[in-house]
Amino acid sequence: MNINKLSKNVFLKDGTIYDPLKKKSIKGNILITNGKINGIGDIKAPNGAEIIDCTNLIITYGFCDIHTHFREPGREDKETLQTGAKAALAGGFTRVCVMPNTIPPLDDPESIRFIVEKAEETPIYIHPIGAITKDQQGKEITEMSAMKSEGAIAFSDDGVPLQNAYVMRLALEYAGMIDVPIINHAEDIPLRNNGVMNESEVSTKLGLSGNPDVAESTMVQRDLQIAQSTNSALHVPHVSTKKSVESIRGYKAVFPKVTAEVTPHHLYFTDEALTTYNTNLKVAPPIRTENDRKALIAALCDGTIDCIVTDHAPHTIEEKEAPFDLAPFGMIGLESCFGAVNKVLVKQSEMKIELLIDLLTIKPRKIMGFEQNLFAKGSVAEITIIDPKASWTFTKDDIYSRSVNSPFIGEELFGQIKYTIVKGLIAKI
Ligand SMILES: [Zn+2]
Ligand SMILES: [Zn+2]
Repeated sequence: MNINKLSKNVFLKDGTIYDPLKKKSIKGNILITNGKINGIGDIKAPNGAEIIDCTNLIITYGFCDIHTHFREPGREDKETLQTGAKAALAGGFTRVCVMPNTIPPLDDPESIRFIVEKAEETPIYIHPIGAITKDQQGKEITEMSAMKSEGAIAFSDDGVPLQNAYVMRLALEYAGMIDVPIINHAEDIPLRNNGVMNESEVSTKLGLSGNPDVAESTMVQRDLQIAQSTNSALHVPHVSTKKSVESIRGYKAVFPKVTAEVTPHHLYFTDEALTTYNTNLKVAPPIRTENDRKALIAALCDGTIDCIVTDHAPHTIEEKEAPFDLAPFGMIGLESCFGAVNKVLVKQSEMKIELLIDLLTIKPRKIMGFEQNLFAKGSVAEITIIDPKASWTFTKDDIYSRSVNSPFIGEELFGQIKYTIVKGLIAKI
């Protein structure tokens, strides 16, 4: 990947331009002048412009990932804001939200300011999500309002489920007052019973402890009920089960402040893949059954699930080389995201590529309240250029994260990011 400053005039020539806000595709060109959108459509290149041939490529908004873990501060050996930003660029992401389960956690205004200031030095836009509770202990609510003033975009104790329903209610009440969503990693801790993979015939066969689907769905149901009673925005992260999908679908029909996300790995793999004991497939919540996977795809198609996020969670090789029971939960996902979801959703499941792009661009931006009209004249260019038909094998060479814990290594993916443009820079992937 090469990252360069944009020339004064950059002309994206002969592409298919898809505007997710206007839901419109046209053939044409985009002129970027001094890093800003200057013209779109049947326009000519000015003299001396840098021309980028976009024949057979889709030009659209930069992707937005509202769920990543960049490990700074505290575990810079796994990832930093800088290395995470490079992984994001490689995946077509111009904007990401980082979870607060760092060391120490992002649980006060100073820690939020630290991320906001450090993010300015990176080549993408990074927004911190603040912790719901002090030290993510699930007891005392953080200073949400002051943290929001410093730039916290939402609140979550992600990594740790908020087990105490009373604290969940307080969190939703406070967040509702300042108009930000609460994101709870929904897994009932006693019910998941230290399970390391989905509880099924496969876990029995493999001799691994099982984490049942109801560990997630019962807490999702609890959270939905409390959110509705407090009339506050609840965003359900990394939905993995059919039962959760059904609860969310039911609530969305009567309570529109509910949103939800799904990861590429829950859409791509099933628990059968764990027969290799590949610890890179050890994630929380776990990879589920084919039945669950199909329900997640249907939920994206009918709008029950609003967006796709990576839950990019870097870990060291040493940690992931531990026996399956002991290895940490999580996989990286930024670089492989588009090729994976385009394969399972567009190539194998007949989703329109325009909807997939919406799920990666405008829909996550809407949840977090980010600007949605990215092709307006004068806007700072935030653009991703995609080859939607490229077949390629994902390898370690495609990873820019400081960690390599990806089960997508060796997988044939479909669709590839060619360029990412943001903050006056252009990354050629
Ligand atoms: Zn989580
Ligand atoms: Zn997470």
